[in-house]
Amino acid sequence: MQAFIINQGVPWQSYVLKAQGGKKKLPHQQVGKLIVATGDAELPILEELYERAMANRVPGVELISSKRVQELEPNVWALQALHSPHTGITDYATVGWSFAEDFLSTGRGQIHTSFKVVGIDMDEVKGVTLESQSGDIVKAKWLITCAGLHADYVARMAGGAKRPVFLPFHSNYKELKPEYCNIITQHLPYS
Ligand SMILES: Cc1cc2nc3c(=O)[nH]c(=O)nc-3n(C[C@H](O)[C@H](O)[C@H](O)COP(=O)(O)OP(=O)(O)OC[C@H]3O[C@@H](n4cnc5c(N)ncnc54)[C@H](O)[C@@H]3O)c2cc1C
Repeated sequence: MQAFIINQGVPWQSYVLKAQGGKKKLPHQQVGKLIVATGDAELPILEELYERAMANRVPGVELISSKRVQELEPNVWALQALHSPHTGITDYATVGWSFAEDFLSTGRGQIHTSFKVVGIDMDEVKGVTLESQSGDIVKAKWLITCAGLHADYVARMAGGAKRPVFLPFHSNYKELKPEYCNIITQHLPYS
C-alpha cells in the first residue's frame, strides 16, 4: 500500500475517507499515530496539538506518558506523546481514482488530465474559457480553482486578488534502511 496518512484533524481538518471507505471498502489500515515530545520545550506544542484535536473532535486522542509510549512502541522514547489511535494510512491514488469514477458515473462532466492551465478568460456572457499550455480549450459555465500551492497564482489568472500569496516551506521525509524497518511495531511516529 502506498502510504498516504489519513490525518483526521490533529494538525488539520477532518478527512473524508470514512464516507467513501464505508461504502467502497477502499484500502486502509488503522495503524495509529504517535506525536512525540522529546524535550521540555516541545511540551506546550504537544498541548496545543491536543487542544486542536479536541476542537476538531478527533476521536480517541490522548496525551500519554513516557511509560505508555514505550508500551506501544518499545523503540520510541518520549517525555510525553499525543496518541491518535484512529489515524490510518491509505493508497491515495486509489482514493483519487474512486472519486473520479464516482464523478464520471454521474455523466455530468469530463476529466481532463495533463491540462496545465495557462489562460483563463472570464466573460459574463460567454462563461469561462480555459486554455492549456498545449493550446486546448475548455469552456464552462462556472469555475472553481483548487490548484494547491499554485492556488494564488491560478486565482490571479482568473482575475482574483493579488493577496493572499502562498509562502512554501520545506520539510523532509526520511526512509529507514531495510534493516531498521521493523523497529516500529505499528504506529506512525512524528516528532
Ligand atoms: C510530500 C507530501 C506528503 C504529504 N503527505 C500527506 C499525508 O500523508 N496525509 C495528508 O493528509 N496530507 C499529506 N500531504 C498534504 C496534502 O498533500 C495536501 O494538503 C493536499 O494535497 C492539498 O490538496 P489540494 O487539492 O489543495 O492541492 P494538491 O493536491 O496540490 O492539488 C493541486 C493540483 O492542481 C494542479 N495545478 C496547479 N497549477 C495548475 C495549473 N496551472 N493548471 C492545471 N493544474 C494545476 C496541480 O498539478 C495539482 O494536481 C502531503 C504533502 C506533501 C507535499
